[in-house]
Amino acid sequence: MRLRIVVLFFVLAVGFVLAPRAAAQSPIVVVSQSLDMRFPRSMRFNIETKSNTRITVLRLTVWQNGVAVGARYSPAFAPSQHVRAGYNWSFQSLSEGGYLPPGTRGEYTWHIEDDAGNVHDTPRAAYAVEDRLHTWQTLSNDVVRVSWYEGDAAFGAAIFARALSAREFLAKQLNIQDIRPLQIFVYASKQDFFTALPPFSAEWTGGRMFPEYGVIMINFAPENSDWGMRATSHELSHAILHSKIRGTLGDLSVPHWLDEGLAVYNETSDHAPDDQFERMFQLAVLRNTLIPLRKLEQRFPADSEQAQLSYGESYSVVKFMIEKYGAEKFAALLNIYEKGAAPDDGLRQVYGMNQDELENAWRDEIGARSREISTARLPTLAPRPTFEVSSPLASPTVLPTASPAPTAEPTRIAQAANPAPDTAVPAPAPALPASGLCGGVVMLSGLVALSALKRRGGRDSER
Ligand SMILES: [Zn+2]
Repeated sequence: MRLRIVVLFFVLAVGFVLAPRAAAQSPIVVVSQSLDMRFPRSMRFNIETKSNTRITVLRLTVWQNGVAVGARYSPAFAPSQHVRAGYNWSFQSLSEGGYLPPGTRGEYTWHIEDDAGNVHDTPRAAYAVEDRLHTWQTLSNDVVRVSWYEGDAAFGAAIFARALSAREFLAKQLNIQDIRPLQIFVYASKQDFFTALPPFSAEWTGGRMFPEYGVIMINFAPENSDWGMRATSHELSHAILHSKIRGTLGDLSVPHWLDEGLAVYNETSDHAPDDQFERMFQLAVLRNTLIPLRKLEQRFPADSEQAQLSYGESYSVVKFMIEKYGAEKFAALLNIYEKGAAPDDGLRQVYGMNQDELENAWRDEIGARSREISTARLPTLAPRPTFEVSSPLASPTVLPTASPAPTAEPTRIAQAANPAPDTAVPAPAPALPASGLCGGVVMLSGLVALSALKRRGGRDSER
């Protein structure tokens, strides 16, 4: 059946009243409606409807919770007094719906018109995207839901407890309000994981978050739970921070080092350093080869060791900010960034320092040599280009799907064995905004574990 997108439109307020007066007398009857979930391929919305004249218009509107834009589709059908039709939403094709992660929830409605001008709108019905390829176990409360299919109850319970604790730190210590419920799906094998991800997902992806749907997908087996627990917390921090700070300016104002540093800081309840980054970081302190913070404002280097250093360094700076000046100040900074302040402006307002000055305060604290800073340098007042932003409202002509938009971020880069040349190109996914890239916890599985394993044994090699 050939289908096409008719129009996109904005969802009206909750108080929107559907039910025109004429609907009560409409002879149009919906015999049945249903949804066939065939993730990861598609979901099919079916309808059977009758009227006493020919039904000529059939239109499906689909929303996803958390996304301000709905989409309308008009399935092709032969006009008749009795119509059976359906719309096949493809998760694989942007023009036929587009990818949605498991856990996505939303609503849909059918609009029906007949030859006599009668109209009928079905009440909004809920749907949920479900990955039925696995027999999931779940553990949930009203804020976090963890789903896994390999490993025992204790495995899921441990992830659940860690996720709750990571969330609580952000909610209580950093005072992030209105955190939406989060769903975490743990895929035990790389193959299962990639089957569930959007088409053409990068090979190095080990976890992925969809902040607008409140979904985190992550790949680790029970035997790697140490790594997985850190990775889950890391992604959860990104998801929460990114859903707090969204929109045209907010996305641009948070320095990348702050985003990643906070994610590493929140990987464990005791905020201990992540072993896989710590070695490079300590070496750089000794050798006086730390990277100027300002160079990490937008992205991290592609070079594996430099990237590891970047994570270690960012973690250390965030730890310094939170533990030296207090969580309240850090929370205040996030609030200012939420309103769209540029990186240096936000820091100046809250800490009275720009990035360079903050860096030297931090260097002093950790016993590293100060960096000479040119005072002639102009402050960077302008936010970065807005083309990096594509919140649903900023691009109303495109369906809000999870194809490589910032809504669906490949959050884990395999830095460890990345043989990429040391060029200025930041990361192996140029279509994505730099802020969306994350190698927070290096994915040490499959092809990517090599170089880290060469150097490190013990705990790292298990992650
Ligand atoms: Zn990250």
